[in-house]
Amino acid sequence: MKTIIQKFRNMFTILLMVASAIVWGQTKPVIVILATGGTIAGAAGSGVQSGYTSGQVTIDAMVNAVPDITKLATIKGEQISNVGSQDMSFEIMLKLAKRIKELAADKNVSGIVITHGTDTMEETAYFLNLVTHTSKPIVLVGSMRPSTAVSADGPLNLYNAVSVAADPNAKDRGVLLVMNDWIHSAQTLTKVSTTAVQTFMSPIRGLIGTSAYGVNEYYRYPHNRYGMKSELSVDGVTALPRVDIIYGDADMPADLIDASVANGAKGIVIAGVGNGNMNKASLDACARASKKGVVVVRSTRVATGNVGRNVEVDDDKLGLVASYDLNPQKARILLSVALLKPRKLDEIQTMFYEY
Ligand code: ASP
Repeated sequence: MKTIIQKFRNMFTILLMVASAIVWGQTKPVIVILATGGTIAGAAGSGVQSGYTSGQVTIDAMVNAVPDITKLATIKGEQISNVGSQDMSFEIMLKLAKRIKELAADKNVSGIVITHGTDTMEETAYFLNLVTHTSKPIVLVGSMRPSTAVSADGPLNLYNAVSVAADPNAKDRGVLLVMNDWIHSAQTLTKVSTTAVQTFMSPIRGLIGTSAYGVNEYYRYPHNRYGMKSELSVDGVTALPRVDIIYGDADMPADLIDASVANGAKGIVIAGVGNGNMNKASLDACARASKKGVVVVRSTRVATGNVGRNVEVDDDKLGLVASYDLNPQKARILLSVALLKPRKLDEIQTMFYEY
């Protein structure tokens, strides 16, 4: 009799465990990590070595370094590329956008995390902000120190990124970046230090929120058009038009602008001095480019502040566009995507105000 009761109890316990596993599995959000490479997946020969190789560590190894992540979500991983982000290309960005579109349409997926090098994280984040039409959280994350470093920052960054991607409060905030406890919007973030772990800042507009050991607070929604509100699309697109960035400085050679046009650029972004300024010879070259149908955007090499239309430069007369609050690298992304369709200059100017 005792053994029958014992058997019954054992069966009941197993059934209970299976049932709770099913329920638990269903209630935990599913987060897909798309890995692209970068220092977060980098490894060095020693913990105090500054040189390292990007993209050495698999997604499984990254997740295994922070076992508590699996308490936040059911994690699935996919390797999209394995590059230091200095080698990030439009081809990889387009591949990412396509995969995100598929995942966003999957009702079983709650959010997406993208591991990425920090060097060009702002370009990829901003590109995805323009062309992924979903309210689900999309979170980029990286690290400044390789996985083998003393005080590596990747594991906690990844933990916080997954916590934001799994958080219903992160919905509808566009593409985000989570690093070193801060949550940034793709539109505002910029890399400001070559080596410090607090390398990302969102000057002027400020943070979206904070994430500390998976406890998230949100202060605001991004101000610009993104995600569901974006009219831009790269569906079916396999390449982006050529847009060059030309750096402005004292006595800059204007023939770089002519060379860009001669080499087939459809757009040019000037990383101008001050309020998107450049010397007279360069302005003349920009006007020549504009007359040939090349869209010229004046941005700035200065870290903060907007580039205003018709302030020191007569944009109306010269046929130019002011970048407003986009730095040169983000202005290049917006212009590249905008130029997928023929558009008038004033329409492009409006896009720079809105996106
Ligand atoms: N060069 C590296 C990259 O962008 C730097 C980093 O990830 O922090 O991939």
